[in-house]
Order: sequence, then structure tokens, then C-alpha cells
Amino acid sequence: MLMLMGTLTARAVNPIEAIAQDKKVAKALAWLDKNADWVTEQQIAITEIPAPEFAEKERGAYVARLLAANGLNVRTDSVGNVIGERQGTVEKYVVLIVAHLDTVFPADTPVQVKRTEGRLEGPGISDDGTGLATIAGLARAMDQAKVKTEATVVFCADVGEEGEGNLRGIRELLNTYKNRIRAVIAIDGAATDYVTTVALGSRRLEVSIEGPGGHSWSDFGMPNPITALARGIVEFSRTPMPEEPRSTFNFGVVSGGNSVNSIPTHADVKVDLRSEDEAELGRLESELRKAFAGAVGAEMAAASEGSPLTLKISVIGVRPAGKLAEDSPLLAAIENADRYLGNRSRLERSSTDANLPLSQGIPAIAIGGGGEGGGAHSLNEWYDPAGRELGLKRALLTILAIAGARS
Ligand SMILES: [Zn+2]
Repeated sequence: MLMLMGTLTARAVNPIEAIAQDKKVAKALAWLDKNADWVTEQQIAITEIPAPEFAEKERGAYVARLLAANGLNVRTDSVGNVIGERQGTVEKYVVLIVAHLDTVFPADTPVQVKRTEGRLEGPGISDDGTGLATIAGLARAMDQAKVKTEATVVFCADVGEEGEGNLRGIRELLNTYKNRIRAVIAIDGAATDYVTTVALGSRRLEVSIEGPGGHSWSDFGMPNPITALARGIVEFSRTPMPEEPRSTFNFGVVSGGNSVNSIPTHADVKVDLRSEDEAELGRLESELRKAFAGAVGAEMAAASEGSPLTLKISVIGVRPAGKLAEDSPLLAAIENADRYLGNRSRLERSSTDANLPLSQGIPAIAIGGGGEGGGAHSLNEWYDPAGRELGLKRALLTILAIAGARS
């Protein structure tokens, strides 16, 4: 990777003006200006195909046909990622453009898109209907204008970005392309006023406590898994969370017990730990383990009857933290595109497909596809396509700057 960065820096990123004024690129930019409505129609069609985690196949097949119709060499890999390659002039390098197929909505959620005064409403319309439609639009613009690049541009509609999908799609893509990857650009959501360069790390754990259970009156004094769980939650909640690196925790789902007059046999809670720093996440996890071990010990010490409780803590999700280097050519590429287009953006931290490459030292960013969206992960999700051309052109210029436009 160091070698690659070296050669890129030495050659310097092509001035963005020269790229934008190249005849073919100018034609692609003009196509995007004129065909934003086509992109929006694709977004509606894609969003209306349900794609809950682990069931992205039907939506993937639709996106595969769309990419194949626009000059890409398309295949679907073993985990379900749809991959469309646009061959570059140098075999060795690839730039990955990813948008995620999966949504957080269960299979029976109605996904019809409602149109109200230019605004589109429907679960998944923005996250990540925007990203998927954007990659289709970019592929089409490049195909229509016959734009050439040095690195192969790989458009990917990947699986497993949300929740317990645990980034399995992007993990497989990184495995496939390994040390050929020059950069990864994730297109997730709509807004163009930010660039995600810091990957927020997270660890999700499930804490389960089991015991013999018994009668609330006659067995009183036996250790109680719910009480032990509550002790652990309170104990861990006292852990100071640092401001820098910013770190958070959330006890999100709790369950257990059998009936109001039984001492329960089990109790469990799911916890989400987040931090900008990987080492800090490790520290939080060990604090959590200590808190619950102590809580179970305290509950047993307080009990008057024998039968011990058992504690099991399992990791149910991992997103590693990471950060794009300030002197990365990828950061220069998007900043130059923003300057050229007169777009103002700030650097952001978030949890996206860019986490995994960033944690492995591969240059990566996440950006919005254009337009405006809101209510992600809720049934009131919406998207407004007004001004989406800006996001499309911004993404195209960034891709060309990092992939190397060739006339
Ligand atoms: Zn998303």
C-alpha cells in the first residue's frame, strides 16, 4: 500500500479542471445533468424490491441486469454481492464503488414508494436506494460517454451492511481484490455536505445469565438471573466514557423470565459499544465483562441457597474503527471535486462499509449520492431528488481523479 501511495503522490492527482474538461468526461457530466430523472426512476424500482438482511437476492438480480445493460462485466459472488467491472488500462489497480443492497426492514414491510410533491417516501428509499441508483447512473454516464480510466472501476451492490449482516459483503470484496485496491468509495444515503473519513468502530455483545429458577415464595433466596443482569447493567453504566476518543454504549434489548411468580431461569441483554478508537473498544469490552462477572458474583453472594448462576458473553457483531490519512490522495480527490463544483462539505465520522477498508489501512470514504433524505431506518423514510446532479457529478469526478482518467 505504501508503494502505491508513493507513486500516486509523485504523479500527483490530475488537476480536477483538466479531468472535467476532457471531452469524454465533459460528455459524461452533461449526461448526468440531463438524466437525473432516469436515476430517480431506477431508485424507485430498486426500493420497491424488498431486501432484508440475508435476503438481498431479488434486488441484487435487478441491479445486476441494470449494470449489465450499461456496459459492465457483471457477476454475483458467493455471498451475494453484485459486481460490475469497467475495465481500466492498467490491469493491476481497482477502485471499488460500493452501495448496499440490504435494508433494516423485515420481509413483510410494505415498500411501495409514495410520491408527494417531488418528495419520495418509502422504507429504504434513501438508505441505500440512493447509493444503488447512483452507481447505476454513474455506470451509465461512463458507458454513454466512453470514459476511460487507468484503474478498473468496480461497481458493487453489496450485502450485509446493516445490523447483524456484520459487513460480510464488503469483507468478501476486500478478499477478492486484496492488494489491487487503490481506494474504496461507499455511497450511502443522500447528503453531499459531508465526507466520512473516520470509521466509527462498534462491538455488539449479548450477555446471558442462566440459573436453576424456582418458585417466587417457596424458593426465595435463590440467585435470580434478572437481578444479576440488572446489577451488571447498573455497574457497567458507571464506567466513565471518554470524550476523546468519543465512545458510547447502549443496552438496547433485554429479555428473560417466565412468569411474575417464578424465579427466572434466564435473562439476557444486547449491548452496543461504539468508539472512534479500536483500543478503546477493547477496553470497554473488558470493562463490560468485568462488570457482569462481578454482578453474577454479587448476586450469588447475596443468595442464601446454593445452585450457581452461569454467565455467557458472546460477540454478535464487530465493526472495526479506522481513519483516512490526512494526506491521502483520495481525500484530495473529493476535496478537489468539491472545490470544482462549489460544494461545501465537512469531514464526518460514521459506521458504513468504509469501516473495514479503513481498519485495514486501505484508503476509503463514504459519501452521499446527492439530493436530500431523512428518516433512515424508520417507516417514514423519505428522499428528495432535487439537486441530485451535484452528488452524481461529485462522485464521478472523485472516481476519475482517483482511478486516473485517460483520454
Ligand atoms: Zn446505509
